[in-house]
Amino acid sequence: MLPHNNIKKIVIVGGGTAGWMAAAALSKLLNHPDMDIRLVESETIGTVGVGEATIPHIRLFNNLLGIEEDEFVRKTNATFKLGIEFSDWDKIGRSYIHPFGKYGVDMEGLRFHHHWLRHQTLGDNHSIDDYNLQIMAARAGKFQRPKNVQNSPLSGIEYAYQFDATLYAKFMRQLSEKSGVTRTEGKVIDVKQNAETGFIESITLESEETIDGEFFIDCSGFRGLLIEQTLKTGYDDWSDVLPCNRAVTVASEKISEPIPYTKATAKKAGWQWRIPLQSRTGNGHVYCGDFISDEEALNILMAGLDSKPISDPKFLRFKTGVRKNVWNKNVVALGLSAGFMEPLESTSIHMIQTSIARLMTQFPDKAFNQVDIDYFNRRTLLEYKQIRDFLILHYCVTERHDSDFWNYCRNMTIPESLQQRIDIYKHNARLYRHDNELFGALSWFAVMHGQGIKPKSYHPNVNIMPSDELDRRMSDIRKTWINCLNTMPSHQEFIDQNCKTS
Ligand SMILES: Cc1cc2nc3c(=O)[nH]c(=O)nc-3n(C[C@H](O)[C@H](O)[C@H](O)COP(=O)(O)OP(=O)(O)OC[C@H]3O[C@@H](n4cnc5c(N)ncnc54)[C@H](O)[C@@H]3O)c2cc1C
Repeated sequence: MLPHNNIKKIVIVGGGTAGWMAAAALSKLLNHPDMDIRLVESETIGTVGVGEATIPHIRLFNNLLGIEEDEFVRKTNATFKLGIEFSDWDKIGRSYIHPFGKYGVDMEGLRFHHHWLRHQTLGDNHSIDDYNLQIMAARAGKFQRPKNVQNSPLSGIEYAYQFDATLYAKFMRQLSEKSGVTRTEGKVIDVKQNAETGFIESITLESEETIDGEFFIDCSGFRGLLIEQTLKTGYDDWSDVLPCNRAVTVASEKISEPIPYTKATAKKAGWQWRIPLQSRTGNGHVYCGDFISDEEALNILMAGLDSKPISDPKFLRFKTGVRKNVWNKNVVALGLSAGFMEPLESTSIHMIQTSIARLMTQFPDKAFNQVDIDYFNRRTLLEYKQIRDFLILHYCVTERHDSDFWNYCRNMTIPESLQQRIDIYKHNARLYRHDNELFGALSWFAVMHGQGIKPKSYHPNVNIMPSDELDRRMSDIRKTWINCLNTMPSHQEFIDQNCKTS
């Protein structure tokens, strides 16, 4: 028997990606006969139906749940992802890849990019891309999982997935139900709060069924049924620095072998994604409705497809920002009900994952210790702000003058935290990872460099290595990387041999 003060009744409201990820993780980690986990969802309301590109950390989540990768890829119609290609962001006609894996080899305790910057001043004209196996493989349409080969970049391959969001939620649902989660179909029409504390005591469905709980996870999507509509928690609006507020999506036919990366192409008032799955391509145009109409946005999306559309276009509206408190009383918001930042770096599903991990660390008992709740809220807000800064970087460092939208982005006031990073990088290419943030020096470098920032100098200590030694090492790295690339199968071959969707 669990002690009296332990939480035993958890109610998850919402069965989208957030709801089912929470259900799968909680049922695995809180596995006890006294534990009752219920999930309520409404097929009539449905899910947002997007969220197809991920980052490598999702593999940790899958490992925790004991998911077998090939089966997962097969059942979610997934492909593999080595990074994101950004086109036309700093200038029309230029593109770069933000890869998941390392550039070159850090030498003498200094990051590789400092050595590369010095080597450029000595006359080397190889692009930084020639020193990154992920970028080389992405451009060549190749993929393989990391191989345990010492001192080889093949051992450091980092990857994520591009999958069908609906199939992913279904996969999570199957796992959850196997581990004892009870699903109830129905629309929540009433929420009862304790008259004194304001804590939520129960929800009532259209069927008149009442479900009571001790702890509620709000995964109800943008509407924030518990966290906002009931508890009126409030929302910090970040549209001034991330002005896109709408999206239109459409699926299109698969035309060729799927590429092992996501494409994000900047447009007149936003950007368009292309996410290749095994059997179709996901497309969407994220834009700012203050600068273009829905009709123009749809035309831009359709003109940017590389194959025939196979679904009706779907419009979505959002407000970038985060709930003032993601955990309020006995409600924790996960997914879209917690906050939203555009999917430019595929971070939303990741934030669901980290919030679940944080929740497990701070898991309450019936006393709901406010100190733990405050800590959870502070850490969550910090994570949102760190990711927000990284996203803004793509917009504010641009030479585009071709539309009012880009003129706005170039001139907007950006957070001091981001300005400082840009200033430091511009001076001597130094980059720091703060507070264990998601994006480390590799990512900051990829985007700073990709957006066209040219640092005045680099770390002075790279000058200690004799230049002929640097030459030799850089050439060795390039040769090794090419040799490794040559051993890799194509992305399609890899899928066919291991995890082809039936
Ligand atoms: C345009 C766009 C593109 C995106 N792309 C990516 C991406 O590439 N990568 C990424 O990581 N993330 C992406 N995201 C974010 C991602 O889609 C979400 O984080 C993820 O799908 C989680 O959604 P959710 O479960 O919170 O909400 P939803 O999918 O909206 O689910 C809400 C659930 O609540 C239920 N519900 C609501 N009200 C009630 C009620 N009254 N009674 C009963 N049930 C109710 C609904 O039925 C549904 O089951 C994108 C988001 C958008 C808007």
